[in-house]
Amino acid sequence: MESLPTPVLDDHLHLHPDGDGIEAAKTFARAGGTHLLVVNRPSWHLVESVDDVDAFRETFEQTIELVEGSTEVLPGRAWPVLGVHPVLLPRLVADHGWSVDDAAQLMRDGLELAADLVAGGRALALKSGRPHFDVSESVLRASNDLIQHVFALAAEVDCAVQLHTEDTDDGTEFAELANEVGLEPHRVVKHYASGPVKGITPSVIARSVAVRAVRNRGDPFMLETDFLDDPTRPGAVLGPKVVPRRSKELAESGHHAALEVAHVETPGLVYGIDTRATLE
Ligand SMILES: [Zn+2]
Repeated sequence: MESLPTPVLDDHLHLHPDGDGIEAAKTFARAGGTHLLVVNRPSWHLVESVDDVDAFRETFEQTIELVEGSTEVLPGRAWPVLGVHPVLLPRLVADHGWSVDDAAQLMRDGLELAADLVAGGRALALKSGRPHFDVSESVLRASNDLIQHVFALAAEVDCAVQLHTEDTDDGTEFAELANEVGLEPHRVVKHYASGPVKGITPSVIARSVAVRAVRNRGDPFMLETDFLDDPTRPGAVLGPKVVPRRSKELAESGHHAALEVAHVETPGLVYGIDTRATLE
């Protein structure tokens, strides 16, 4: 195994029983990775089958199980991040004839179930957001209401939120929404960020150009692959070795402070986790 000066956390990847599952966690560990935040499979996979909150329950339990298996093969550990993918809302409306209100209610039910699992200590954080493409005004309004709702849930159960949105370098709008409901804005994480994001914490996609945009700033950031673990879409996103590989490059180019920020300080600040203490 490659040795690095810090633990190595991938802040956002998916594992699935029909994909590589625990094998992907092993691949990550062999490359030098130590900790994983595993996000449940995008809920739009459920679009054909979802009609009540039990569909979410099944996905969440699957993710929790894969996290337990991953923890066994990692030098550190894994944690689950649970939520409802924002693209489910427009899909239910456009492809399946749901009303916006009914679809939004189902999304809320799923997020509340996820928050219950966080409150019970079975998951670390929540995941929500809004579609990254243009949608109708009513879908956009419902999506923004959901963001506010998930922030309120996160404040209530004292956890962070990973946010899926359009690509942006300005999270001020989300910071304000978070403040309104008593959630500290740094606990809002812009998933798949391509560089710094004003007002909230970027989880930067581990491509060289994005890493270069944050490595010297000293501001909080984390790294992620958004590995999908979807055998039907190989190579659609980065593979599980990429965060360890970028981290090794940071070490080799003398960016030790950036490694400390990405893998120790920011995870502590955002999620309250201690990646050093949880290394075996
Ligand atoms: Zn993802």
